[in-house]
Amino acid sequence: MEREKTYEKSFDVADIFGANVFNDETMQKRLPSKVYQKLKQSIEEGRELDLETADVIAHEMKEWAIEKGATHYTHWFLPLTGVTAEKHDSFISAPLSSGKVLMRFSGKELTKGEPDASSFPSGGLRATFEARGYTAWDCTSPAFVRQDAAGATLCIPTAFCSYNGQALDQKTPLLRSMQAINEQSLRLIRLFGNTHSRKVTPMIGAEQEYFLVKSENFMERKDLVYTGRTLFGAMPPKGQELDDHYYGAIRQRVASFMRDVNIELWKVGVTAKTQHNEVAPAQHELAPIYDKANIAVDHNQIVMHTLRRIASKHGLKCLLHEKPFAGVNGSGKHNNWSLMTDDGINLLDPGITPHENTQFLLVLMCILKGIHKHADLLRESAADPGNDHRLGVDEAPPAILSVFLGEQLEDVMDQLISTGFATHSIDGGKLKTGVRTLPDLAKDATDRNRTSPFAFTGNKFEFRMVGSRDSVAAPNIVLNSIVAEAFADACDVLENAEDFGLALHDLIKLYANEVRVIVFNGNGYSAEWEKEAKRRGLSNLKSMVDAIPALTEEQTVEMFKRFKVFTRAELESRAEIQYETYSKTIHIEARTMIDVAGKQIIPAVMQYTKMLAETVLVVEGVAGDASVQKEILQEVSALLKEAKKAVVALTEYTESAGKMSEGMERARYYYEEVCPRMEALRLPVDKLEMLVDKEIWPMPSYGDLLFDV
Ligand code: ADP
Ligand code: MG
Repeated sequence: MEREKTYEKSFDVADIFGANVFNDETMQKRLPSKVYQKLKQSIEEGRELDLETADVIAHEMKEWAIEKGATHYTHWFLPLTGVTAEKHDSFISAPLSSGKVLMRFSGKELTKGEPDASSFPSGGLRATFEARGYTAWDCTSPAFVRQDAAGATLCIPTAFCSYNGQALDQKTPLLRSMQAINEQSLRLIRLFGNTHSRKVTPMIGAEQEYFLVKSENFMERKDLVYTGRTLFGAMPPKGQELDDHYYGAIRQRVASFMRDVNIELWKVGVTAKTQHNEVAPAQHELAPIYDKANIAVDHNQIVMHTLRRIASKHGLKCLLHEKPFAGVNGSGKHNNWSLMTDDGINLLDPGITPHENTQFLLVLMCILKGIHKHADLLRESAADPGNDHRLGVDEAPPAILSVFLGEQLEDVMDQLISTGFATHSIDGGKLKTGVRTLPDLAKDATDRNRTSPFAFTGNKFEFRMVGSRDSVAAPNIVLNSIVAEAFADACDVLENAEDFGLALHDLIKLYANEVRVIVFNGNGYSAEWEKEAKRRGLSNLKSMVDAIPALTEEQTVEMFKRFKVFTRAELESRAEIQYETYSKTIHIEARTMIDVAGKQIIPAVMQYTKMLAETVLVVEGVAGDASVQKEILQEVSALLKEAKKAVVALTEYTESAGKMSEGMERARYYYEEVCPRMEALRLPVDKLEMLVDKEIWPMPSYGDLLFDV
């Protein structure tokens, strides 16, 4: 049923935007100017706040939050579970002798928290005797008040570390990597005579894809409830082949959901900007305007949380899994990345004639060099169990890391390689629209290629491997660090060069030659590319399990150590957590399949065979010929037998895997032994779904889920 609801009351977006954020404007208004200056300095220069200043800020923040209805505050952080964690404390103080309480919030409470860290994954970093973890305010990401069923809560974005400073979260290494890329970028632009910029920040725009299904359908699918994806399900007669959903008119129920999502996001300062239907039925996308990396990472978490929360209010469920439905497009997160100075210069802007812009060419070649050297690590940064179903299967993007540059830049690069000089740029030319009433557009010389995992799109790179459910922190930690390394190496050479111009020219040519192999402008989905990539010696890591070792390779450890982003111990712990996550996820999926097959599907099929058998008897008694009924009965019985056998095998292998000790071998076992047996069970069950009476089938079909929203 479509619920039509029109909003008569109009409102001004500018009024509500950021209304619940303790942003610069609010701080300036509410804080004594000395305190405000100190905080600004600490934000800009990364200096620690003294307790006295923190006390004043905390007090004002609390007063402001209470005006917004807040009763509690929470240090909001990103542990290695992939989702945010929070522990709520109310502002109340111990009762006074009068029996009354005061609302208190100190500088210490604002800047530091001590949650018990023992229940968060640490990959062995934190022995149980030092279970304490510390959260520290990331004052560069503003605090906000979230209003939901719990009332209103003051959320303070924080980093989460162990007692001796080891990172137990995504935020800490992200901030470290931002420092690294800032330092090395400044070195680089100084070489080109820029003395005015004081800071270089990675800017991120994370586009979020998701599916919406009806709550009541969701609740009837135990696989969705337990694992976030369907483990069984035959394709409906219609899928996405007509492409009629992509950019299609948005249905009323979904439109009203999107409106509420936008309002909630605007209130907490998330710049929700673009929304549209995606390729698959029931699939949608939301993109905010890009922001500083750490803020964009926090905002993406808020986006995912808000999508889920608001969906429930509309009788919907938001699926963030990378592959909720087999045979239908999966969901990803496009991570747009660029480097911006504090005075507004984008280092990835090629200018009008890129061959002349040598700084841009050096930046570009360094980025490519970083990707070439650390391709496996970058692939790993987008690895999660759900994403295995996208990368390297039938859809975007493949697991091979190549870079799309577009015609113009590829040509410039080839000139550099063959002659050492780039003397001209193919200009964009005019794109003939063929429609008289539309002007001819100046064609963007960097044409879009939707199949590339890493595409240059005008003045930014778009990394498209990231999974829809994953945080964008990991890919940006890697991107910032590998580019910082390439910048540092280039600066080491150029700072000591006698003839800067000549050294620069030689370096760009050298790098262009080195990285040419990863440049690919063609169709990344094609089988030819897979062959060609192999010939070029590029990796094709199909599974998360294949990618995890990249985290602890010597060159990874060296690089992260050099820029103080991760220690070896931190990397080893992360690898361990990744293996654990993979094993646990597959374990739950396998057990869910066994459960659903055993308790729901097999009993339903047996009921159907009984009905068929009775029909055969009755029909034979009356008409004599029950051959069709018998045939169906035989077919169903054969598939039932196959399914039962597959359940037995899956159970056996899942139990064996469950007994192994944590680590790489166990994860490998799940990938190589358990996953194929899950497939083997799915096959007969999906065939049965096509034969068994829909009235008897124990759960909503793909058709119900995808086309009835
Ligand atoms: P498309 O779907 O064509 O890729 P969208 O408009 O949906 O384009 O998303 C593009 C994303 O890239 C947006 O989040 C946008 O803010 C972001 N973006 C634009 N310019 C930059 C930039 N210089 N650096 C980082 N992100 C950017
Ligand atoms: Mg995009």
